[in-house]
Amino acid sequence: MSDNINENEDINSEDKDRDTKEKKIISEEENRNSEYEDVCFVCRRPESKAGKMFKLPNNICVCNDCMHKTMEAVSQFDYQGMLHDPRFQNELDQLTKQGGIPNISFVNLADLQGDGGIPNKQKLKRKKKQEEGQPALNIKDIPAPHKIKASLDEYVVGQEHAKKVISVAVYNHYKRVATNTMDEIEIEKSNMLMIGPTGCGKTYLVKTLARLLDVPLAIADATSLTEAGYIGDDIESVVSKLLAAADNDVEKAERGIIFIDEIDKIAKKKNTNTRDVSGESVQQGMLKLLEGAEVEVPVGANSKNAMVPLATVNTRNILFICGGAFPDLEEIIKERLTKTASIGFNSELKDKYDKDKNILSKVTVEDIRKFGMIPEFIGRLPVIFTLEGLTREMMVKILKEPKNAILKQYQKLLELDEVRLEFTDEALEAIAEKALKRETGARALRSIIEEFMLDIMYEIPKDDNIGKVTITREYIEGTGGPVIDIRNSQLPEVRNDAER
Ligand code: ADP
Repeated sequence: MSDNINENEDINSEDKDRDTKEKKIISEEENRNSEYEDVCFVCRRPESKAGKMFKLPNNICVCNDCMHKTMEAVSQFDYQGMLHDPRFQNELDQLTKQGGIPNISFVNLADLQGDGGIPNKQKLKRKKKQEEGQPALNIKDIPAPHKIKASLDEYVVGQEHAKKVISVAVYNHYKRVATNTMDEIEIEKSNMLMIGPTGCGKTYLVKTLARLLDVPLAIADATSLTEAGYIGDDIESVVSKLLAAADNDVEKAERGIIFIDEIDKIAKKKNTNTRDVSGESVQQGMLKLLEGAEVEVPVGANSKNAMVPLATVNTRNILFICGGAFPDLEEIIKERLTKTASIGFNSELKDKYDKDKNILSKVTVEDIRKFGMIPEFIGRLPVIFTLEGLTREMMVKILKEPKNAILKQYQKLLELDEVRLEFTDEALEAIAEKALKRETGARALRSIIEEFMLDIMYEIPKDDNIGKVTITREYIEGTGGPVIDIRNSQLPEVRNDAER
Protein backbone atom coordinates (compact mmCIF):
# COMPACT_ATOMS: atom_id res chain seq x y z
CA MET A 1 0.00 0.00 0.00
CA SER A 2 2.66 2.42 1.10
CA ASP A 3 4.66 1.39 -1.97
CA ASN A 4 1.69 2.33 -4.06
CA ILE A 5 1.52 5.77 -2.51
CA ASN A 6 5.22 6.29 -3.09
CA GLU A 7 4.85 5.22 -6.69
CA ASN A 8 1.96 7.63 -7.15
CA GLU A 9 3.97 10.43 -5.63
CA ASP A 10 6.84 9.65 -7.98
CA ILE A 11 4.53 9.71 -10.98
CA ASN A 12 3.00 13.00 -9.80
CA SER A 13 6.35 14.66 -9.35
CA GLU A 14 7.46 13.37 -12.78
CA ASP A 15 4.29 14.87 -14.28
CA LYS A 16 5.00 18.16 -12.57
CA ASP A 17 8.56 18.18 -13.85
CA ARG A 18 7.36 17.49 -17.37
CA ASP A 19 4.74 20.23 -17.05
CA THR A 20 7.23 22.86 -15.95
CA LYS A 21 9.65 21.82 -18.68
CA GLU A 22 6.91 22.04 -21.31
CA LYS A 23 5.82 25.41 -19.98
CA LYS A 24 9.39 26.63 -20.16
CA ILE A 25 9.78 25.46 -23.74
CA ILE A 26 6.49 27.13 -24.71
CA SER A 27 7.43 30.42 -23.05
CA GLU A 28 10.86 30.34 -24.69
CA GLU A 29 9.18 29.71 -28.01
CA GLU A 30 6.77 32.62 -27.38
CA ASN A 31 9.64 34.83 -26.46
CA ARG A 32 11.51 33.98 -29.63
CA ASN A 33 8.43 34.64 -31.75
CA SER A 34 7.49 37.83 -29.94
CA GLU A 35 8.05 41.06 -31.78
CA TYR A 36 9.85 42.55 -28.81
CA GLU A 37 13.30 41.70 -27.54
CA ASP A 38 14.73 41.82 -24.06
CA VAL A 39 17.24 44.38 -22.93
CA CYS A 40 20.08 43.72 -20.46
CA PHE A 41 19.42 45.35 -17.11
CA VAL A 42 23.12 46.09 -16.56
CA CYS A 43 24.67 47.07 -19.89
CA ARG A 44 21.32 47.91 -21.60
CA ARG A 45 22.21 46.13 -24.80
CA PRO A 46 19.27 44.44 -26.52
CA GLU A 47 19.19 40.66 -27.02
CA SER A 48 20.10 41.01 -30.70
CA LYS A 49 23.46 42.49 -29.69
CA ALA A 50 24.21 40.88 -26.34
CA GLY A 51 22.93 37.36 -26.99
CA LYS A 52 20.55 35.26 -24.95
CA MET A 53 19.46 36.75 -21.66
CA PHE A 54 19.14 35.33 -18.16
CA LYS A 55 15.68 35.92 -16.76
CA LEU A 56 15.71 36.94 -13.11
CA PRO A 57 12.71 37.43 -10.87
CA ASN A 58 10.90 40.78 -11.00
CA ASN A 59 11.10 40.79 -14.79
CA ILE A 60 14.77 41.59 -14.95
CA CYS A 61 16.97 40.33 -17.79
CA VAL A 62 20.76 40.20 -17.69
CA CYS A 63 23.01 39.30 -20.60
CA ASN A 64 25.51 36.48 -20.53
CA ASP A 65 28.54 38.77 -20.25
CA CYS A 66 27.19 40.83 -17.37
CA MET A 67 25.97 37.74 -15.54
CA HIS A 68 29.36 36.07 -15.76
CA LYS A 69 31.17 39.20 -14.71
CA THR A 70 28.92 39.39 -11.66
CA MET A 71 29.46 35.73 -10.86
CA GLU A 72 33.20 36.10 -11.15
CA ALA A 73 33.19 39.10 -8.85
CA VAL A 74 31.04 37.28 -6.32
CA SER A 75 33.08 34.06 -6.37
CA GLN A 76 36.31 35.97 -5.85
CA PHE A 77 34.83 37.78 -2.94
CA ASP A 78 36.79 36.89 0.16
CA TYR A 79 33.97 37.29 2.70
CA GLN A 80 36.16 39.83 4.52
CA GLY A 81 39.10 37.45 4.82
CA MET A 82 36.93 34.58 6.11
CA LEU A 83 38.14 32.15 3.47
CA HIS A 84 41.75 32.44 4.61
CA ASP A 85 41.19 32.91 8.28
CA PRO A 86 42.28 29.74 10.22
CA ARG A 87 39.60 30.45 12.83
CA PHE A 88 36.86 29.73 10.28
CA GLN A 89 38.52 26.73 8.60
CA ASN A 90 36.52 24.16 10.58
CA GLU A 91 33.17 25.71 9.74
CA LEU A 92 34.14 26.12 6.13
CA ASP A 93 35.21 22.46 5.85
CA GLN A 94 31.90 21.40 7.33
CA LEU A 95 29.94 23.58 4.93
CA THR A 96 31.88 22.19 1.98
CA LYS A 97 31.04 18.65 3.09
CA GLN A 98 27.36 19.59 3.29
CA GLY A 99 27.32 20.74 -0.30
CA GLY A 100 29.37 23.89 -0.60
CA ILE A 101 29.48 27.37 0.83
CA PRO A 102 26.43 29.42 0.20
CA ASN A 103 27.54 31.32 -2.84
CA ILE A 104 25.70 32.04 -6.06
CA SER A 105 26.91 28.86 -7.77
CA PHE A 106 23.87 27.16 -6.24
CA VAL A 107 21.78 28.97 -8.77
CA ASN A 108 21.35 27.04 -11.94
CA LEU A 109 21.90 29.75 -14.52
CA ALA A 110 20.14 27.72 -17.20
CA ASP A 111 16.97 27.79 -15.08
CA LEU A 112 16.92 31.51 -15.16
CA GLN A 113 17.04 31.75 -18.93
CA GLY A 114 13.48 31.38 -20.10
CA ASP A 115 10.35 32.93 -18.73
CA GLY A 116 9.99 36.31 -17.13
CA GLY A 117 11.36 39.33 -18.97
CA ILE A 118 11.03 43.03 -18.39
CA PRO A 119 7.68 44.69 -19.08
CA ASN A 120 6.78 45.27 -22.70
CA LYS A 121 6.93 49.00 -22.15
CA GLN A 122 10.69 48.80 -21.81
CA LYS A 123 11.27 46.21 -24.51
CA LEU A 124 12.54 47.03 -27.93
CA LYS A 125 10.96 45.78 -31.08
CA ARG A 126 13.22 43.46 -33.01
CA LYS A 127 14.68 44.87 -36.18
CA LYS A 128 13.47 43.01 -39.22
CA LYS A 129 16.20 41.38 -41.18
CA GLN A 130 16.32 43.58 -44.21
CA GLU A 131 17.95 42.76 -47.46
CA GLU A 132 20.94 44.97 -48.16
CA GLY A 133 20.03 48.32 -49.64
CA GLN A 134 16.31 47.67 -49.70
CA PRO A 135 14.47 50.70 -48.34
CA ALA A 136 11.79 50.25 -45.70
CA LEU A 137 9.25 52.29 -47.64
CA ASN A 138 7.98 51.58 -51.07
CA ILE A 139 7.89 54.62 -53.32
CA LYS A 140 4.61 53.47 -54.82
CA ASP A 141 2.96 53.57 -51.39
CA ILE A 142 3.54 57.28 -50.99
CA PRO A 143 0.50 59.21 -52.17
CA ALA A 144 1.14 62.00 -54.69
CA PRO A 145 0.95 65.58 -53.36
CA HIS A 146 -2.49 66.24 -54.84
CA LYS A 147 -3.82 63.13 -53.14
CA ILE A 148 -2.32 64.15 -49.80
CA LYS A 149 -3.91 67.58 -50.17
CA ALA A 150 -7.28 66.13 -51.14
CA SER A 151 -7.27 64.01 -47.99
CA LEU A 152 -6.26 67.00 -45.88
CA ASP A 153 -9.14 68.98 -47.45
CA GLU A 154 -11.61 66.57 -45.91
CA TYR A 155 -10.54 67.63 -42.43
CA VAL A 156 -8.83 71.00 -42.54
CA VAL A 157 -10.79 74.06 -43.62
CA GLY A 158 -9.04 76.81 -45.60
CA GLN A 159 -5.24 77.12 -45.27
CA GLU A 160 -4.94 76.26 -48.97
CA HIS A 161 -1.36 77.47 -49.28
CA ALA A 162 -0.20 75.64 -46.17
CA LYS A 163 -1.84 72.40 -47.26
CA LYS A 164 -0.19 72.62 -50.66
CA VAL A 165 3.27 73.33 -49.28
CA ILE A 166 3.04 70.61 -46.65
CA SER A 167 1.80 68.02 -49.20
CA VAL A 168 4.70 68.65 -51.55
CA ALA A 169 7.28 68.74 -48.75
CA VAL A 170 6.03 65.52 -47.19
CA TYR A 171 5.90 63.80 -50.56
CA ASN A 172 9.47 64.80 -51.34
CA HIS A 173 10.67 63.80 -47.91
CA TYR A 174 9.26 60.29 -48.04
CA LYS A 175 10.36 59.90 -51.64
CA ARG A 176 13.92 60.55 -50.48
CA VAL A 177 13.52 58.15 -47.58
CA ALA A 178 12.13 55.47 -49.88
CA THR A 179 14.89 55.77 -52.43
CA ASN A 180 17.62 56.07 -49.81
CA THR A 181 18.93 59.31 -51.30
CA MET A 182 18.77 61.07 -47.97
CA ASP A 183 22.53 60.81 -47.46
CA GLU A 184 23.46 62.75 -50.55
CA ILE A 185 21.16 65.64 -49.78
CA GLU A 186 21.04 65.58 -46.05
CA ILE A 187 20.69 69.28 -45.45
CA GLU A 188 17.88 69.42 -47.96
CA LYS A 189 15.67 67.37 -45.68
CA SER A 190 12.22 68.99 -45.82
CA ASN A 191 11.97 70.01 -42.17
CA MET A 192 9.31 72.69 -41.85
CA LEU A 193 8.59 75.84 -39.94
CA MET A 194 4.90 76.73 -39.65
CA ILE A 195 3.89 80.20 -38.60
CA GLY A 196 0.33 81.04 -37.71
CA PRO A 197 -1.84 82.44 -34.93
CA THR A 198 -3.03 80.19 -32.15
CA GLY A 199 -5.93 77.86 -32.90
CA CYS A 200 -5.68 78.15 -36.69
CA GLY A 201 -5.00 74.45 -37.17
CA LYS A 202 -1.23 73.94 -37.01
CA THR A 203 -1.29 70.93 -34.71
CA TYR A 204 -4.44 69.66 -36.35
CA LEU A 205 -2.82 69.76 -39.79
CA VAL A 206 0.18 67.72 -38.63
CA LYS A 207 -1.99 65.24 -36.72
CA THR A 208 -4.19 64.69 -39.75
CA LEU A 209 -1.15 64.28 -41.95
CA ALA A 210 0.46 61.66 -39.72
CA ARG A 211 -2.80 59.73 -39.55
CA LEU A 212 -3.22 59.77 -43.32
CA LEU A 213 0.35 58.63 -43.93
CA ASP A 214 0.17 56.12 -41.08
CA VAL A 215 3.46 57.21 -39.53
CA PRO A 216 4.10 57.70 -35.81
CA LEU A 217 3.84 61.25 -34.52
CA ALA A 218 5.25 62.87 -31.41
CA ILE A 219 4.04 66.30 -30.32
CA ALA A 220 6.27 68.22 -27.97
CA ASP A 221 6.13 71.67 -26.51
CA ALA A 222 9.27 73.74 -26.94
CA THR A 223 8.55 75.61 -23.70
CA SER A 224 9.21 72.48 -21.64
CA LEU A 225 12.56 71.77 -23.30
CA THR A 226 15.80 72.80 -21.66
CA GLU A 227 19.45 72.19 -22.32
CA ALA A 228 20.49 68.73 -21.11
CA GLY A 229 21.25 68.71 -17.41
CA TYR A 230 18.75 71.40 -16.41
CA ILE A 231 15.29 70.98 -14.90
CA GLY A 232 12.78 70.20 -17.66
CA ASP A 233 12.76 67.71 -20.51
CA ASP A 234 16.03 67.49 -22.33
CA ILE A 235 15.92 67.87 -26.08
CA GLU A 236 16.33 64.21 -26.90
CA SER A 237 13.17 63.40 -24.96
CA VAL A 238 11.21 64.28 -28.11
CA VAL A 239 12.78 61.29 -29.86
CA SER A 240 11.93 59.14 -26.87
CA LYS A 241 8.29 60.23 -27.24
CA LEU A 242 8.35 59.28 -30.89
CA LEU A 243 9.74 55.86 -30.04
CA ALA A 244 6.87 55.36 -27.61
CA ALA A 245 4.38 56.44 -30.30
CA ALA A 246 5.94 53.82 -32.59
CA ASP A 247 5.42 51.05 -29.99
CA ASN A 248 9.17 50.94 -29.29
CA ASP A 249 9.79 49.95 -32.90
CA VAL A 250 13.00 51.80 -33.77
CA GLU A 251 12.58 51.30 -37.53
CA LYS A 252 9.08 52.74 -37.48
CA ALA A 253 10.15 55.66 -35.29
CA GLU A 254 12.93 56.49 -37.72
CA ARG A 255 10.30 57.28 -40.36
CA GLY A 256 8.07 59.29 -38.06
CA ILE A 257 7.18 62.95 -37.64
CA ILE A 258 8.10 65.13 -34.67
CA PHE A 259 6.03 68.25 -34.20
CA ILE A 260 7.49 70.88 -31.90
CA ASP A 261 4.91 73.45 -30.95
CA GLU A 262 5.51 76.93 -29.51
CA ILE A 263 8.89 77.08 -31.19
CA ASP A 264 8.83 80.89 -30.91
CA LYS A 265 9.20 80.49 -27.14
CA ILE A 266 12.81 79.34 -27.56
CA ALA A 267 13.84 82.54 -29.31
CA LYS A 268 17.05 84.12 -28.07
CA LYS A 269 16.36 86.09 -24.92
CA LYS A 270 17.07 89.74 -25.30
CA ASN A 271 19.17 91.64 -22.76
CA THR A 272 19.81 88.78 -20.41
CA ASN A 273 22.80 88.27 -18.19
CA THR A 274 21.94 84.77 -17.00
CA ARG A 275 22.62 81.60 -18.92
CA ASP A 276 19.89 81.09 -21.52
CA VAL A 277 19.16 77.41 -20.85
CA SER A 278 15.70 77.36 -22.38
CA GLY A 279 16.25 79.65 -25.34
CA GLU A 280 19.25 79.86 -27.58
CA SER A 281 20.93 76.79 -26.12
CA VAL A 282 17.87 74.67 -26.87
CA GLN A 283 18.07 75.87 -30.46
CA GLN A 284 21.74 74.91 -30.49
CA GLY A 285 20.94 71.54 -28.98
CA MET A 286 18.32 70.84 -31.61
CA LEU A 287 20.63 71.41 -34.56
CA LYS A 288 22.06 67.92 -34.43
CA LEU A 289 18.62 66.30 -34.23
CA LEU A 290 17.20 68.32 -37.11
CA GLU A 291 20.06 67.45 -39.37
CA GLY A 292 20.25 63.78 -38.50
CA ALA A 293 22.14 62.13 -35.70
CA GLU A 294 22.29 58.90 -33.78
CA VAL A 295 20.79 59.53 -30.37
CA GLU A 296 20.54 57.20 -27.43
CA VAL A 297 17.10 57.52 -25.94
CA PRO A 298 15.54 55.86 -22.91
CA VAL A 299 12.87 53.29 -23.73
CA GLY A 300 9.60 53.66 -21.88
CA ALA A 301 10.67 56.63 -19.79
CA ASN A 302 11.38 60.29 -20.10
CA SER A 303 14.84 60.45 -18.63
CA LYS A 304 17.96 58.38 -18.78
CA ASN A 305 18.64 56.54 -15.57
CA ALA A 306 20.08 53.23 -14.47
CA MET A 307 16.74 51.47 -14.57
CA VAL A 308 15.74 52.05 -18.18
CA PRO A 309 17.20 50.49 -21.30
CA LEU A 310 18.49 52.72 -24.07
CA ALA A 311 17.82 52.49 -27.79
CA THR A 312 19.77 54.12 -30.57
CA VAL A 313 17.56 56.08 -32.95
CA ASN A 314 18.82 57.75 -36.09
CA THR A 315 16.97 61.02 -36.74
CA ARG A 316 18.16 61.36 -40.33
CA ASN A 317 14.83 60.27 -41.83
CA ILE A 318 12.61 61.79 -39.16
CA LEU A 319 10.61 64.74 -40.39
CA PHE A 320 10.67 67.69 -38.02
CA ILE A 321 7.87 70.23 -38.17
CA CYS A 322 8.12 73.26 -35.93
CA GLY A 323 5.17 75.55 -35.31
CA GLY A 324 4.62 78.78 -33.48
CA ALA A 325 2.48 81.90 -33.35
CA PHE A 326 5.49 84.27 -33.42
CA PRO A 327 3.76 87.29 -31.87
CA ASP A 328 5.37 90.61 -32.78
CA LEU A 329 6.71 89.09 -35.99
CA GLU A 330 4.19 91.25 -37.87
CA GLU A 331 5.78 94.36 -36.42
CA ILE A 332 9.21 93.20 -37.59
CA ILE A 333 7.88 92.57 -41.11
CA LYS A 334 6.11 95.92 -41.24
CA GLU A 335 9.22 97.68 -40.08
CA ARG A 336 11.31 96.04 -42.78
CA LEU A 337 8.75 96.76 -45.49
CA THR A 338 8.41 100.43 -44.58
CA LYS A 339 12.17 100.84 -44.31
CA THR A 340 12.83 99.46 -47.75
CA ALA A 341 10.35 101.89 -49.31
CA SER A 342 11.55 105.42 -50.01
CA ILE A 343 11.39 107.96 -47.22
CA GLY A 344 8.43 110.31 -47.31
CA PHE A 345 5.77 107.73 -48.03
CA ASN A 346 6.35 106.07 -44.70
CA SER A 347 3.15 107.01 -42.93
CA GLU A 348 1.04 106.13 -45.94
CA LEU A 349 2.78 102.78 -46.26
CA LYS A 350 2.45 102.04 -42.58
CA ASP A 351 -1.29 102.53 -42.87
CA LYS A 352 -1.37 100.17 -45.79
CA TYR A 353 0.55 97.45 -43.95
CA ASP A 354 -1.45 97.96 -40.78
CA LYS A 355 -4.58 97.08 -42.70
CA ASP A 356 -3.00 94.14 -44.51
CA LYS A 357 -4.34 91.00 -42.82
CA ASN A 358 -1.93 88.72 -44.58
CA ILE A 359 1.20 90.56 -43.62
CA LEU A 360 2.60 87.38 -42.05
CA SER A 361 2.80 85.69 -45.44
CA LYS A 362 5.47 88.23 -46.43
CA VAL A 363 7.86 86.80 -43.86
CA THR A 364 11.50 86.24 -44.78
CA VAL A 365 14.31 84.32 -43.10
CA GLU A 366 15.80 87.65 -42.05
CA ASP A 367 12.62 88.54 -40.09
CA ILE A 368 12.68 85.24 -38.25
CA ARG A 369 16.33 85.77 -37.40
CA LYS A 370 15.50 89.17 -36.04
CA PHE A 371 12.77 87.61 -33.94
CA GLY A 372 15.46 85.60 -32.14
CA MET A 373 15.96 82.34 -33.98
CA ILE A 374 19.60 81.59 -34.73
CA PRO A 375 20.61 81.31 -38.41
CA GLU A 376 21.83 77.70 -38.08
CA PHE A 377 18.44 76.74 -36.71
CA ILE A 378 16.46 78.45 -39.48
CA GLY A 379 18.85 76.94 -42.02
CA ARG A 380 17.78 73.47 -40.98
CA LEU A 381 14.10 74.27 -41.55
CA PRO A 382 14.13 74.97 -45.29
CA VAL A 383 10.36 74.88 -45.81
CA ILE A 384 8.83 77.96 -44.20
CA PHE A 385 5.15 78.80 -44.59
CA THR A 386 2.39 80.66 -42.84
CA LEU A 387 -1.21 79.89 -41.93
CA GLU A 388 -3.96 82.49 -42.03
CA GLY A 389 -5.88 83.65 -39.01
CA LEU A 390 -9.42 82.23 -39.10
CA THR A 391 -12.22 84.43 -40.46
CA ARG A 392 -15.90 84.24 -39.58
CA GLU A 393 -16.67 82.28 -42.75
CA MET A 394 -13.91 79.78 -42.01
CA MET A 395 -15.20 79.30 -38.48
CA VAL A 396 -18.69 78.53 -39.78
CA LYS A 397 -17.22 75.99 -42.18
CA ILE A 398 -15.14 74.42 -39.40
CA LEU A 399 -18.36 73.97 -37.43
CA LYS A 400 -20.16 72.00 -40.10
CA GLU A 401 -17.92 70.80 -42.94
CA PRO A 402 -14.98 68.62 -41.83
CA LYS A 403 -15.55 64.86 -41.65
CA ASN A 404 -15.54 65.02 -37.86
CA ALA A 405 -17.15 68.48 -37.52
CA ILE A 406 -18.41 69.41 -34.06
CA LEU A 407 -22.00 69.81 -35.26
CA LYS A 408 -21.95 66.37 -36.86
CA GLN A 409 -20.79 64.91 -33.57
CA TYR A 410 -23.67 66.48 -31.62
CA GLN A 411 -26.18 65.56 -34.31
CA LYS A 412 -25.05 61.95 -34.08
CA LEU A 413 -25.38 62.01 -30.29
CA LEU A 414 -28.96 63.28 -30.41
CA GLU A 415 -29.81 60.94 -33.26
CA LEU A 416 -29.33 58.12 -30.80
CA ASP A 417 -32.27 59.62 -28.88
CA GLU A 418 -34.13 59.89 -32.21
CA VAL A 419 -34.03 63.67 -32.08
CA ARG A 420 -32.93 65.84 -35.01
CA LEU A 421 -30.63 68.72 -34.23
CA GLU A 422 -30.41 71.68 -36.56
CA PHE A 423 -28.67 75.04 -36.49
CA THR A 424 -29.88 78.04 -38.47
CA ASP A 425 -27.23 79.82 -40.53
CA GLU A 426 -27.58 82.87 -38.29
CA ALA A 427 -26.92 80.73 -35.23
CA LEU A 428 -23.69 79.46 -36.75
CA GLU A 429 -22.61 83.00 -37.54
CA ALA A 430 -23.35 84.05 -33.98
CA ILE A 431 -21.20 81.22 -32.64
CA ALA A 432 -18.37 82.20 -35.01
CA GLU A 433 -18.59 85.83 -33.91
CA LYS A 434 -18.44 84.83 -30.26
CA ALA A 435 -15.42 82.62 -30.95
CA LEU A 436 -13.60 85.40 -32.82
CA LYS A 437 -13.91 87.65 -29.78
CA ARG A 438 -12.09 85.12 -27.60
CA GLU A 439 -9.05 85.23 -29.90
CA THR A 440 -8.13 81.60 -29.36
CA GLY A 441 -9.01 80.51 -32.88
CA ALA A 442 -11.14 77.45 -33.54
CA ARG A 443 -10.46 76.18 -30.06
CA ALA A 444 -13.11 78.57 -28.76
CA LEU A 445 -15.81 76.99 -30.95
CA ARG A 446 -16.03 73.77 -29.02
CA SER A 447 -16.18 75.48 -25.63
CA ILE A 448 -18.93 77.83 -26.79
CA ILE A 449 -21.03 75.03 -28.23
CA GLU A 450 -20.50 72.90 -25.16
CA GLU A 451 -21.76 75.72 -22.95
CA PHE A 452 -25.20 75.90 -24.48
CA MET A 453 -25.55 72.30 -25.61
CA LEU A 454 -25.35 71.28 -21.98
CA ASP A 455 -28.93 72.45 -21.32
CA ILE A 456 -30.19 70.84 -24.48
CA MET A 457 -28.52 67.51 -23.74
CA TYR A 458 -29.96 67.67 -20.22
CA GLU A 459 -33.55 68.55 -21.15
CA ILE A 460 -34.16 66.57 -24.33
CA PRO A 461 -34.07 63.01 -22.93
CA LYS A 462 -36.71 64.09 -20.37
CA ASP A 463 -39.42 64.32 -22.99
CA ASP A 464 -40.01 61.53 -25.49
CA ASN A 465 -42.23 63.73 -27.63
CA ILE A 466 -39.47 66.03 -28.80
CA GLY A 467 -38.59 65.22 -32.40
CA LYS A 468 -36.44 68.15 -33.50
CA VAL A 469 -34.47 70.98 -31.92
CA THR A 470 -33.43 74.03 -33.90
CA ILE A 471 -30.75 76.29 -32.45
CA THR A 472 -31.30 79.94 -33.32
CA ARG A 473 -29.21 83.10 -33.11
CA GLU A 474 -31.47 84.30 -30.28
CA TYR A 475 -30.65 81.23 -28.24
CA ILE A 476 -26.91 81.74 -28.74
CA GLU A 477 -27.16 85.39 -27.79
CA GLY A 478 -29.31 84.63 -24.76
CA THR A 479 -32.37 86.52 -25.95
CA GLY A 480 -34.55 83.50 -26.74
CA GLY A 481 -34.78 79.75 -26.66
CA PRO A 482 -34.32 76.97 -29.19
CA VAL A 483 -37.25 75.98 -31.40
CA ILE A 484 -38.63 72.63 -30.31
CA ASP A 485 -40.74 70.51 -32.67
CA ILE A 486 -42.88 67.75 -31.32
CA ARG A 487 -42.56 64.36 -32.97
CA ASN A 488 -45.40 63.48 -35.33
CA SER A 489 -47.79 60.97 -33.84
CA GLN A 490 -46.42 57.97 -35.74
CA LEU A 491 -42.92 58.10 -34.41
CA PRO A 492 -43.56 57.22 -30.76
CA GLU A 493 -45.56 54.20 -31.90
CA VAL A 494 -42.72 53.01 -34.06
CA ARG A 495 -40.44 53.36 -31.07
CA ASN A 496 -42.86 51.44 -28.87
CA ASP A 497 -42.96 48.68 -31.43
CA ALA A 498 -39.22 48.50 -31.41
CA GLU A 499 -39.17 48.41 -27.63
CA ARG A 500 -41.63 45.60 -27.55
P1 ADP B 1 -2.83 75.50 -33.15
O1 ADP B 1 -2.70 76.23 -34.45
O2 ADP B 1 -2.77 76.44 -31.99
O3 ADP B 1 -1.93 74.32 -33.06
P2 ADP B 1 -4.88 73.50 -33.26
O4 ADP B 1 -4.41 72.86 -34.50
O5 ADP B 1 -4.60 72.77 -32.00
O6 ADP B 1 -4.32 74.97 -33.14
O7 ADP B 1 -6.44 73.76 -33.39
C1 ADP B 1 -7.36 73.54 -32.35
C2 ADP B 1 -8.61 72.84 -32.84
O8 ADP B 1 -9.32 73.68 -33.71
C3 ADP B 1 -8.30 71.60 -33.66
O9 ADP B 1 -8.34 70.45 -32.85
C4 ADP B 1 -9.37 71.54 -34.71
O10 ADP B 1 -10.45 70.78 -34.27
C5 ADP B 1 -9.82 72.97 -34.84
N1 ADP B 1 -9.29 73.64 -36.05
C6 ADP B 1 -8.40 74.64 -36.08
N2 ADP B 1 -8.17 75.06 -37.33
C7 ADP B 1 -8.91 74.29 -38.13
C8 ADP B 1 -9.11 74.23 -39.55
N3 ADP B 1 -8.47 75.07 -40.39
N4 ADP B 1 -9.97 73.31 -40.04
C9 ADP B 1 -10.63 72.47 -39.21
N5 ADP B 1 -10.50 72.49 -37.86
C10 ADP B 1 -9.66 73.38 -37.32
